[in-house]
Amino acid sequence: MKRVMAVANQKGGVGKTTTAVNLAASLAATKRRTLLIDLDPQGNATMGCGIDKSQLQRGTCEVLLGEVDIQSALVPLEGAGFTMLPTNQDLVAAEVRLLTTTVGRETKLLNALKPVRDQFDVILIDCPPSLNMLTVNALVAADSVLIPMQCEYYALEGLSALLSTIEQIRSAVNPGLELEGILRTMFDPRNNLANEVGAQLIMHFGDKVFRTIIPRNVRLAEAPSFGKPVLLHDKESRGALAYLALAGEMIRREEEAREPPASAAPDSSGGAGSEGSGEEGAVASAGPRAEGLGGDRP
Ligand code: ADP
Ligand code: MG
Repeated sequence: MKRVMAVANQKGGVGKTTTAVNLAASLAATKRRTLLIDLDPQGNATMGCGIDKSQLQRGTCEVLLGEVDIQSALVPLEGAGFTMLPTNQDLVAAEVRLLTTTVGRETKLLNALKPVRDQFDVILIDCPPSLNMLTVNALVAADSVLIPMQCEYYALEGLSALLSTIEQIRSAVNPGLELEGILRTMFDPRNNLANEVGAQLIMHFGDKVFRTIIPRNVRLAEAPSFGKPVLLHDKESRGALAYLALAGEMIRREEEAREPPASAAPDSSGGAGSEGSGEEGAVASAGPRAEGLGGDRP
């Protein structure tokens, strides 16, 4: 695994930061060298990893504006096992200054990352809840986009705006930008609407929907108040296990993509890459898993 992944959705409160922090910790637990970049001026990922943003001299803002080099702004997190590029309040100012720059304002993050890209297997970028210049910088710097979403009535509407932004970035500056996957977060299997929207997502996006579902879990919500990823807060919780499963699914997917096809016939049905063929099975397989999440475990 060697890539830069933007965790993006212009809706707030869908689980971007929770996913970025806990996926970073889970990938680090599988020995991937992982960097987490906090690109949201709210600094939730920074605080959720136990870094006091008010004390921070150098962070994402200074790096984006070219005031400090990225290496000197990285903070290794001993317990969590990954490295962080944290942010302080100045990131709002950085966005304003980026907007007034005329040359190369979309490529600041891409260029800033170049010196450290090879030090890491995975770089995760926690994006702000809007399609602003910071998010554009993330999508330009990224190889792929991971979209966390809550399975609610309006969820699909917001998704099309994000997908069209991704398409624009692809055709304008970053043709290699891929959809890493759509992640169903804060999922409550007892909610019929959630199940319906989840199944609809699979009908539309097939294999691009992660089979791992992140349940609503109180341990995930409280871990940031301890300044820790959930793995360090309660590693047996359903939330911790779900993010470990997500990391496992990503690694497995990548290994499958690298393996040579089993048969010589490219169109043989059921093959990993054949579009559409797996959809019904996918809906069926999401069902039992979703039901399995209904237990009372914290
Ligand atoms: P975003 O970064 O998209 O704004 P957050 O990750 O900050 O979203 O999540 C919004 C709120 O929901 C936070 O208070 C977070 O702790 C909580 N939350 C996120 N995921 C879960 C989950 N799976 N179960 C319970 N609470 C969650
Ligand atoms: Mg956030």
